[in-house]
Amino acid sequence: MKKRVAIIGGGITGLAAAFEIEKANQRGETKLDYQVIEGSNRLGGKIQTHRRDGFVIEAGPDSYLKRKTSMTTLIEEVGLKDELTTNDTGQSFILKGTSLYPIPAGAVMGVPTEITPFIKTGLFSPLGKVRALGDFVIPKTMGPNEDISLGHFFRKRLGNEVVDHLIEPLLSGIYGGDMDKLSLKATFPHFQQMEETNRSLIKGIKKSRPKTPKKADVPTKKEGMFQTLKHGIESLVEAVADKLDPESIHLSQNVKNITKSGSGFTLQYEDGVKEVFDYVIVTTPPPVTAKLLSHYPYFDYFKQMEMTSIATVAMVFPEEAVVQAEEGTGFVVSRKSGYTITACTWTSKKWRHTTPAGKVILRCYVGRPGHSDIVRKSDEEIIQTVLNDLAHVIEIKEKPDFFYVSRWSNPQYQVGHTFKLDKMKEDIEAFLPGLQVAGAGLAGVGLPDCIDQGKACAKAIMDSKQ
Ligand code: FAD
Repeated sequence: MKKRVAIIGGGITGLAAAFEIEKANQRGETKLDYQVIEGSNRLGGKIQTHRRDGFVIEAGPDSYLKRKTSMTTLIEEVGLKDELTTNDTGQSFILKGTSLYPIPAGAVMGVPTEITPFIKTGLFSPLGKVRALGDFVIPKTMGPNEDISLGHFFRKRLGNEVVDHLIEPLLSGIYGGDMDKLSLKATFPHFQQMEETNRSLIKGIKKSRPKTPKKADVPTKKEGMFQTLKHGIESLVEAVADKLDPESIHLSQNVKNITKSGSGFTLQYEDGVKEVFDYVIVTTPPPVTAKLLSHYPYFDYFKQMEMTSIATVAMVFPEEAVVQAEEGTGFVVSRKSGYTITACTWTSKKWRHTTPAGKVILRCYVGRPGHSDIVRKSDEEIIQTVLNDLAHVIEIKEKPDFFYVSRWSNPQYQVGHTFKLDKMKEDIEAFLPGLQVAGAGLAGVGLPDCIDQGKACAKAIMDSKQ
């Protein structure tokens, strides 16, 4: 009899796991019966693309970091290589007060590495700039095996101004979290390593950056760091699903709980039906995972994990209705400026394939820790709030032709995240062997990180005695 693997959740993590097993089955290396069990009526989870009248509008993720290769590999494996496209680069800004300030040249994730643009920017006061340069002399903030919050780390190294007006809007956007609670070790461990090696973060980053090319080699245009698919990220979901055994995909099938039974596991669904599997890969968001396994004491961290509610707001306008004072690809918002929006991308400039000629797409984010009320409001109220905020920096003469508002929640990696995860994994290995837990709540929220995790779970099962 074939051993049975349940993959709970049909987001990118679950699909990557399923595809890995499917490939090994095809190669004749394994004979595993895998089943993807998805609670909603569609695959993709947070990946969702709206395609309409020539527009390609992402509700969730819109791209990925090119240097993280597992996403490109998956795209190539399912035959979508020709669909890949890189972002158009342009100036990004910080909205502070009612002005858009260009992000100073040389700032890496907000950490200044070029002195002249940093000294010249109007984003910080003279005192704030002097404080940031204190990084050159300030002692190390932590030992190699400690964890502190991103806020604690950067405030100590560079001071509050640079954190509040540059680093915070840039970094917490990626994790949708609170800088003063997010774990440094789990989110940006290389900053910790740089401090460990160089003490000064500025020196460490400068050292790690590629040397400036000789004049003749300087490219005319900076190459984008992100990639996406011309027909949307959801085309990857569709292509992976096409490679799987159609009988192995189950939609609208909500798992209610998972119990260890004998050498395997029993899944109980919402409709009461039970099914037995030899292995289980759980890729649901952490609070759901904790609920599915609530009768075991190993998932307390997941139970307590805070989730940040956010919404993305994509709006389509006729080109002539939007007048931008600044040329660029978007801005993030300084948290001290009293706005509800946290970021805005001029999608039609950054990703030209998304927008037919004569139209403009603006994509904004709302919602952050402690300010989630906005996400619960009606679409119309959210749109009005976003338009009111945008009016400070962009002249918008008409209501949008149409819009999409999408609500999400993101896991917050709290201080000590990696240590708590290690303990959880140890407990699972000892007391629930055959169970794998993966996904955005664990080892990275980026699409490539999720793919890596899904593949690793599949591999762990394939490598175990089947
Ligand atoms: P999910 O996609 O959340 O999948 C989990 C699945 O489990 C869902 O389909 C859900 O329906 C299902 N499920 C839940 N409960 C049950 C149950 N009881 N039974 C069965 N199934 C269940 N990353 C990037 O790399 N680049 C970006 O540009 C980017 N932008 C983002 C923008 C937004 C607005 C958001 C929210 C995230 C973004 N991310 C980005 C992060 C990335 O999209 C996610 O981390 C990733 O898609 C998560 O995949 P996952 O499979 O782990 O989880």
